[in-house]
Amino acid sequence: MKILVINCGSSSLKYQLIDMEKETVLCKGLVERIGIDGARITHKCGEQKYEHSEPMKDHKRALEIVLDQLVDENHGAIKALDEISAVGHRVVHGGEKFNDSVKIDGDVMKAIRDCIDLAPLHNPANIMGIEAIQELIPNVSNVAVFDTAFHQTMPAENYLYAIPYEYYEKHGVRRYGFHGTSHNFVAHRAAEIVGKDIKDLKIITCHLGNGSSIAAVDHGKVVDTSMGLTPLEGVCMGTRSGDMDPAIIPFLMEKEGLSKEDINTILNKKSGVLALSGISSDFRDIEAEQETNERARIALTQFANRVRKYIGAYATLMNGVDIIVFTAGVGENSKEMREDIMKNLTFLGMTLDEEKNNSRGKEVCITTDDSKVKAIVIPTNEELMIAKDTKRLS
Ligand code: ADP
Repeated sequence: MKILVINCGSSSLKYQLIDMEKETVLCKGLVERIGIDGARITHKCGEQKYEHSEPMKDHKRALEIVLDQLVDENHGAIKALDEISAVGHRVVHGGEKFNDSVKIDGDVMKAIRDCIDLAPLHNPANIMGIEAIQELIPNVSNVAVFDTAFHQTMPAENYLYAIPYEYYEKHGVRRYGFHGTSHNFVAHRAAEIVGKDIKDLKIITCHLGNGSSIAAVDHGKVVDTSMGLTPLEGVCMGTRSGDMDPAIIPFLMEKEGLSKEDINTILNKKSGVLALSGISSDFRDIEAEQETNERARIALTQFANRVRKYIGAYATLMNGVDIIVFTAGVGENSKEMREDIMKNLTFLGMTLDEEKNNSRGKEVCITTDDSKVKAIVIPTNEELMIAKDTKRLS
């Protein structure tokens, strides 16, 4: 069984064709600059790499080009498109309607459209990807896998904001959380690694990438997560501010004469470690200067402190923790950041094994054998998770 996984952004599209028997990637690629000048595809199949530029007016044209590569004689992985059994689509916002992945039909499409207000940049792109596949390979079943679904188990006391209740009722203003597919994947994998049922564990999953979020997974269910109505809340990130006093927003709008678009751009694209360091949103660039540049040190230390504060808060919320998971670009690759975060967590009964922590991008337990609380690095694999759900539901 072969499953195509598609992740559409507003002007980009990532894809993987996965063989479900062996759970291996047959080919994968990225289309960039859809609808703007300089559109291009980068496609990889084993050792073969194919790059090509041509104007792509929309996601449908981009997907036509992707499908051509999948069946290409030289760098394709299948002979005909009917070898694709089903297509799994990453959909960013499922609101309160979806607590699991779902096979797509007319009602599901309407529900995804109803969530556009909550994710105005993401859901329209996801819809374009689904509609394009429905046109191009009409006989295949499509499954939607939501970033928000895994977090739907949160209790109301943790997802409601302390603002007038009518805003929740009228506009759906509440905490939803994101990166759910990744938190789900690594939490279950962590349980497998320690050989226990996830229902017997308290796990804190730290997805630390360009965007970062932390989740408290209590006996298999998310009870709290750091991102909120949108991905802006929580720890400071590459370019997002994370938690801050909400009064800063009207204050700055008035002082600087900013519009709501301006303030949205500033908090989402010009803040975070980029703003603190004045160097870059990329943690590697900041780490390279931390010895000599005080603002680089502040940016990295603030990030580590904020992650640690969430870990402390979630351990308290769950009355303990058995496993802390590090995943995504920073969590998987930066031993320095993991070490910094784990400083001052010894009171939880967790001891870092520096030798084991000296690793990058690999699945490894980085605490000592006698550590009561385990810390495990687990490379996330959202595409495989999407493919598994697609297989289950199609
Ligand atoms: P996204 O949120 O875009 O999916 P990723 O999970 O791919 O992001 O993470 C990207 C981030 O990971 C980049 O900001 C980069 O700084 C960071 N990163 C990747 N490799 C390393 C490394 N070796 N050391 C520190 N940070 C790294």
